[in-house]
Amino acid sequence: MKQFGKYLFILIFYYFGDLSYGKPFDTDLYLEKFGYLDEKQPGKQHDEQSRKNAIETFQEFAGLPVTGQLNEATLKKMLAPRCGLPDVIKPSDRIPPTGNKKHDLRQPLQFNAPGYKWDKKQVTYKFAGFTRQLPASSQRRAIRNAFSKWEAVIPLTFREVSSGNADILINWVYRSHGDGSPFDGLGGTLAHAFFPGESDISGDTHFDDQEVWTERSKEGTNLEIVAAHELGHAIGLGHSNVDGALMLPFYGGYDPNYKLNYDDIRGAQSLYGGKQAPRPTPRPRPPPRPTLRPRPTSRPRPPTRRPAPTQKPDDEDKCSIKFDDIANGPDGRLYAFRYRKVYKFNSNDVGIERKFPRNVRKVFPKAPNNIGAAVYDRFNRKFYIFKGSRYWRYSYNFQLDPGYPKRLRGWYRSIQAALQEDNGEIRVLKGSEMSVWREDFTNPPRGYPVNINRGWPGLRSDLEAAIRYRRQSYFFKGGNYFRYNDRYKKVDYRKAKAGPWLGCGRVEPK
Ligand code: ZN
Ligand code: CA
Ligand code: ZN
Repeated sequence: MKQFGKYLFILIFYYFGDLSYGKPFDTDLYLEKFGYLDEKQPGKQHDEQSRKNAIETFQEFAGLPVTGQLNEATLKKMLAPRCGLPDVIKPSDRIPPTGNKKHDLRQPLQFNAPGYKWDKKQVTYKFAGFTRQLPASSQRRAIRNAFSKWEAVIPLTFREVSSGNADILINWVYRSHGDGSPFDGLGGTLAHAFFPGESDISGDTHFDDQEVWTERSKEGTNLEIVAAHELGHAIGLGHSNVDGALMLPFYGGYDPNYKLNYDDIRGAQSLYGGKQAPRPTPRPRPPPRPTLRPRPTSRPRPPTRRPAPTQKPDDEDKCSIKFDDIANGPDGRLYAFRYRKVYKFNSNDVGIERKFPRNVRKVFPKAPNNIGAAVYDRFNRKFYIFKGSRYWRYSYNFQLDPGYPKRLRGWYRSIQAALQEDNGEIRVLKGSEMSVWREDFTNPPRGYPVNINRGWPGLRSDLEAAIRYRRQSYFFKGGNYFRYNDRYKKVDYRKAKAGPWLGCGRVEPK
């Protein structure tokens, strides 16, 4: 009886699981999920014009007549099985054009390639799991064939490994599976993959195990074709809107002769170059191509004609400042802390305001030197500075609130960086751990602290500074800063910190 109860529970669970999929279809949610609309502000609706634009772009993508109206054909396409990745990648989620010849996004290239690529020629993959729906040998063959399609056109090779680390982990999972992009039962999303990069999850490819996976059949969903599409993402391609492209977001059914279309090939070659045909006679080897993504700010700058302005001693090392922390100030401007100095950014947030840096205490009365962390709580309009076992609280007019500094206890002592999430939660970082913090917490709440990678997979320990800035999270460590991509749960890029924030070198998007 006990056993039976357990099974009954599981049955009910599944039943409800699938009912939830039968809820009225939320077109706004669909348009948000796939990048056509920005996420809604809490309590607000999308305005009609942006919704209409979103529908038009979707119709363009789906090869439908562009009307801006949610007609039957449009809704039907929205309900069609598809890939879980967005179709429109916002400029802020791309690697900006850097003059890097290898993948300069200003060149006409595959629609929506976000700019990520593998910086090596041999990429490894591993099966983290298999589906029980097909023999393992069929799954191996399907994945192998899918990789071969790409290998045929670009100078990358993919090698399966069975132990140790691999660049691309392949797995069958269902519903929530720990990467923030839950699957949705039978139908809807079929699979997704992560773009190349530096985090653990980069390149990983997941198939929804609640789909019916098949080989050589018109029934169900053909594993090899979906795999070939997903591996396109795993090498760095976004979705195409070119008719017949494998990188179209929608599953087009089983085609025994499916192949890469010119747009798929052009996209892949724009990232990696073409495949060199094997030559019959040995020739002198061409100079090796650089394999590391050049860091824009580390490139030598052309000499300028203008004489360098005379520098005050304070400015001398301006371009190599390491921040103790950086935070939005009570006045809406950015402030960075370093030893006993505070730097105020100019109103464009590139470069330092005149008369700065200043002594910290000139701006934040009674503040300590060498702070641990600083964060602005914009919901309560309070600015906090943390150091060791104390914290200071300032109001909008930069006045220290009465009764401060106050004590920090237990784990909260000696935090190194802090930022406020869009939902108001203040996250504090220390070593390899992260916790949420409120003034009334003497200890981390239940479940905290957690490893930094629980909140931000792929991020390193001992971060020195953190900030939520224009709805993006940035982390600073050593000579670099990292922009974190919340959607894909990975580090977007790493840059030398000085340039874009301090106005040194080329001024470019952060
Ligand atoms: Zn896709
Ligand atoms: Ca699904
Ligand atoms: Zn996943």
